[in-house]
Amino acid sequence: MPGSLAPPCLVWHRTDLRVHDHAAVTAAAAASRGHVIGVLCIPEDAFGSVELARGLCLPRASECRVGHWLQAIDGLRADWRSIGSALCVLRGEPEQVIPKLVADLGAIEVHTAPCPAHDELMQNRRVARALADRGTRLVTHDETTMIAAADLPFPIEELPEVFSNFRRLVERSCKTPEPVPALTSLDVPASTREWSEATSDATLSGADLRRARIAALQRDPRAPSTARGERAAGLERMQQWIWQDDCLARYKETRDGLLGADFSSRLSTWLATGTISPREVAAQIRRYERERVANDSTYWLWFELLWRDYFHLWVRRWQSRAFAASGMMGRTPCGRQDVDAFERWRSGTTGEPFVDACMHELAATGWLSNRGRQNAASWLAKTAGVDWRWGAWWFESQLLDHDVGPNWGNWQYVAGVGNDPRNRTFNVRAQAERYDTDGAYRRTWG
Ligand SMILES: Cc1cc2nc3c(=O)[nH]c(=O)nc-3n(C[C@H](O)[C@H](O)[C@H](O)COP(=O)(O)OP(=O)(O)OC[C@H]3O[C@@H](n4cnc5c(N)ncnc54)[C@H](O)[C@@H]3O)c2cc1C
Repeated sequence: MPGSLAPPCLVWHRTDLRVHDHAAVTAAAAASRGHVIGVLCIPEDAFGSVELARGLCLPRASECRVGHWLQAIDGLRADWRSIGSALCVLRGEPEQVIPKLVADLGAIEVHTAPCPAHDELMQNRRVARALADRGTRLVTHDETTMIAAADLPFPIEELPEVFSNFRRLVERSCKTPEPVPALTSLDVPASTREWSEATSDATLSGADLRRARIAALQRDPRAPSTARGERAAGLERMQQWIWQDDCLARYKETRDGLLGADFSSRLSTWLATGTISPREVAAQIRRYERERVANDSTYWLWFELLWRDYFHLWVRRWQSRAFAASGMMGRTPCGRQDVDAFERWRSGTTGEPFVDACMHELAATGWLSNRGRQNAASWLAKTAGVDWRWGAWWFESQLLDHDVGPNWGNWQYVAGVGNDPRNRTFNVRAQAERYDTDGAYRRTWG
């Protein structure tokens, strides 16, 4: 590996697949006078499985979800190129491949900004230890929320247990910061860029990853469109949904929809991979309010982004309790380990038409409306009384927008072991009559 005069820094990407509005990229560039390179690790076992019970194994991520993530990585590679650097995509465990890359490049610091849930913190510790052996620092940044934990008016250990209390405190004393402007050009030797490109090409040509790419291109004719994973596609969606079609102005009235492309923003897939930052969406809402209209709908999209913040902070606050059967409250869950009932639920053969339609849509597209998710989850955890964690694992495996805090937090909430003060059970038939009045959704996905 040819060397360079200024020692480089690395930015290790996980759920932050962008170079825009990214404190880790800015800090790494400052520490290395622009000699900064991105790195991303794809586990050897990208299609590993999780065994929930005897005879019940789920893939950790569907081929379609992995393919969608690869599209986001393609976009990230292009973005690093466009600012004069490169993304080095490696295959293997971070604690093994990152220290080796650090040694090859002579890097002095590694900057990273994951959603700090339990597994990510453990991984940070392993990588930090491996890097310390070589005298290199792992620098972590708080990047995944609109409002950083350090800017909250309370320490993370005192995160309110109920969302409304959190919202009131935030609304009283926090402002959503403006996105950080993107860097325009870095200073990375051509030899390093070429080497990183060649290494990444070799990694990304694996047969399993090629299969995943194909899976991500399949489109069910009943679905409105196939969202690609790249940042460019997310920016296009924001432009169309907010500005071109003015859907933001009506969002509060449409957001409980079930069929169609525009009843909600569908920005979750890009927010989950971090190709778009929540601050960037919030900035678009503010601009729309200045230039077009400020109403309940524009407030409500910000309110939903605050729910996202809340669950990111929640998973960080509760660590392993976020994944425990008894939940954050340590309540006794009603969860039976009933493999047959679970299989009927996930294959959409429960006999309950609304639930079955939701599960078919999820399996066919990797996406489901919020109303659909609430009903499907409530039915499994409350009506069928099956272990809610199995449902959370299935959503994690299938959802293109899987995001650890929002998924596990919402599951706990619906299952009655989290922070729903009312602990409701959805009457899925009444819900179907109310939100699918003419039965079109059930006919489409039934
Ligand atoms: C059981 C269950 C599991 C869920 N799993 C996930 C998940 O893995 N990833 C995920 O992003 N969301 C999850 N949600 C929350 C919500 O359903 C999705 O964020 C939303 O449906 C995505 O569609 P959208 O982008 O069109 O949302 P919009 O209605 O347009 O909302 C805008 C954004 O606000 C955020 N948001 C909206 N509702 C919620 C919510 N209830 N909790 C947290 N953030 C929210 C999302 O980032 C979303 O993109 C889950 C909800 C339930 C009930």
